[in-house]
Amino acid sequence: MMATMETHTALLQKYSKPGPRYTSYPTAPYFAESFDEHPWRDELLATQTDGRDLSLYVHIPFCDSLCYYCGCNMIATRDYDKARDYLAILFQEIDRTAAIVDTSRIVRQIHWGGGTPTYLRPDDIRALFGHLAARFQISADAEIGCEVDPRELSREHVQALKDAGFNRLSLGVQDLDARVQTAVNRVQPEALIREVYGWMREAGFGSINMDLMVGLPHQTVQSFAQTLDRIVDMQPDRLAVFGYAHVPWVKKHQKLIHDADLPDFDTRIALQKLIMERLGAAGYVYIGMDHFARPTDELVKARHDKTLWRNFQGYTTHKNCDIYAFGVSAISQTDEVYVQNAKNLGDYQNAIASGALATERGVRISRDDKLRRDAIVSIMCDLELDKAEFGAKWGIDFDTYFKDGLRELQDMATDGLVEVDPERIRVTDPGRIFLRNIAMAFDAYLQTPSETAPRYSRTL
Ligand code: SF4
Repeated sequence: MMATMETHTALLQKYSKPGPRYTSYPTAPYFAESFDEHPWRDELLATQTDGRDLSLYVHIPFCDSLCYYCGCNMIATRDYDKARDYLAILFQEIDRTAAIVDTSRIVRQIHWGGGTPTYLRPDDIRALFGHLAARFQISADAEIGCEVDPRELSREHVQALKDAGFNRLSLGVQDLDARVQTAVNRVQPEALIREVYGWMREAGFGSINMDLMVGLPHQTVQSFAQTLDRIVDMQPDRLAVFGYAHVPWVKKHQKLIHDADLPDFDTRIALQKLIMERLGAAGYVYIGMDHFARPTDELVKARHDKTLWRNFQGYTTHKNCDIYAFGVSAISQTDEVYVQNAKNLGDYQNAIASGALATERGVRISRDDKLRRDAIVSIMCDLELDKAEFGAKWGIDFDTYFKDGLRELQDMATDGLVEVDPERIRVTDPGRIFLRNIAMAFDAYLQTPSETAPRYSRTL
């Protein structure tokens, strides 16, 4: 079906509804408090000989100031002593996990997120990385990434990241328009972004991502087109254009963003169209959800090879890794378990200081969860699913097992978002921005709505 602008608008309206982003399945709201440190220790001990490599995540929650759109677990403070105390606890947590697990397992990936990891001073960046490197076996070709806030960043920070061994940086930009930046309390002029970006390239970083955001107050198609043009001119290797999730009932500070200033539905639709067109014309390949990369990027290769996967950091090429995550609210996972550390900083620090792990909740996933996760990942990462291959892998008849999901897909198939035939399910080009909706057809947790069910952000 050829989507005209009118049908496009109608589809966006029809399918704009709350839904998960599927960085895990089941999603985090379904983790249970009964899954605490004890089953997690047992899981760690039981999975050391599974032959999986490691991915390490470190969460640094501090930021100098609060961006009003923020959806992260963060603490705005100018008191660096808080970061010093936190680091001391973080070192203990890393040691405690390292004492349980087989540290000769190879680390293929490291990611520091936040908050703002570059809130740490350069010497502390080196010290924290050194602490990890002294305890774990980091592969020489490991992918080592860090999220970077251009404000308050110095050339010394960039050098410290390079010296430590980081090889990927992700720069938070969001929007270059001054009015938008003021409205979300994140003022960072283009000249600053260009300067910081220049330092990164000079230091030899070959892979730089930029994060943008649509749906912010005062954004217009014209203003965001200018932002895109100026960003594309800098030639980042990857781009992530996230949709702003306005959930003031969860993130109270988002009430500082006035509903009346948010772009209306038609503008949001036009912005989606603009992003696809401009980034496509600039040579970026659409990976899935909000992600774009240059054709030579390994995310593009992984898309073609069908080795892409989704985890809490978004798209990854490291599918078969256990993730050990350190820090407040950090989420770890093995093939069958997800666990999350305490989300409150005090609770996290007290747990570690008392000699425990800080595991607050988690879930052991069932076979049905695993099957559905595999189907959801196929849609989100490969944009298609081979029914026979899938059935053979899991020992099921696909059409029988997923008959409810297939029924749900019928409507989307009629609307031209997905093709469903006896052999496969394939996301069409117009269907690409509806990936969350298509994946939701395989989500068993959404089929039994309850009053305690989580309220997700809207899919579009
Ligand atoms: S810098 Fe990032 S984590 Fe910190 S407040 Fe802004 S958006 Fe949130």
